[in-house]
Amino acid sequence: MELVIENLRAGYGKVQVLWDVNLRLAEGEFVAVIGANGAGKTTTLRAVSGLLRPGGGRVTLKGQDLTRLSPTQIVKLGLGHVPEGRELFPGMTVLENLELGASIRDEARTRKNETLAQVQELFPRLAERRSQLAGTLSGGEQQMLAVGRALMSCPKVLLVDEPSLGLSPLLTQTVFRALKAVNATGVGVLLVEQNVMQSLQLAERAYVLENGRVVNEGLGRDLLTDPSVREAYLAL
Ligand code: ATP
Repeated sequence: MELVIENLRAGYGKVQVLWDVNLRLAEGEFVAVIGANGAGKTTTLRAVSGLLRPGGGRVTLKGQDLTRLSPTQIVKLGLGHVPEGRELFPGMTVLENLELGASIRDEARTRKNETLAQVQELFPRLAERRSQLAGTLSGGEQQMLAVGRALMSCPKVLLVDEPSLGLSPLLTQTVFRALKAVNATGVGVLLVEQNVMQSLQLAERAYVLENGRVVNEGLGRDLLTDPSVREAYLAL
């Protein structure tokens, strides 16, 4: 197993949000986490990437315990995070944002030019806009840049938080297709989405999160036809 999340608990102050969440991602797997607003999807990713200190449980990446490490140490071990809201540096150019993505890991710095070429191949738009300030990009372009910047760290596993947020259906397709292409290069992808139909089509496996608990899991295509999923998330 590449990424193992065991009995993860997390919250904000006295408010517990995650209750013993268990998730697994095999090497090179594409897994989705679906759930309604406030189910705890973002909180799960933040607790895995060290942005939020878990209150209990364990997270391991290739057997290495991440649970008490800093976000920087976690990136160094090969976990990339595309956070909700993208968190780009608006006053820096596209190229500068991408280069920053490679700055934390030694192996990423060594392979910077090679990775940059791959990212620009994946997102030709970023190559065209390389000298433009990130803050002036369109929403879709910013999302591509956020994914591209995370890829610059040469992650083994990429956590992606709600990339379709605020994007047109067409741009959502572009970003999803890019994630599939990233996954095809061997990078494991853990995708959090409210866009249930598309993420279940995209992912091999998925987990359903409700009120901070995993209530269902299975193959993406099986969950698409699961009556409880169809009723709660697909309004069918
Ligand atoms: P969405 O799809 O709406 O982003 P989500 O599944 O990602 O939802 P989370 O963002 O993980 O949900 O939020 C889970 C719960 O934690 C919500 O009830 C939310 O109000 C609460 N929460 C999130 N961030 C904070 C915070 N910084 N302080 C206090 N409570 C928070």
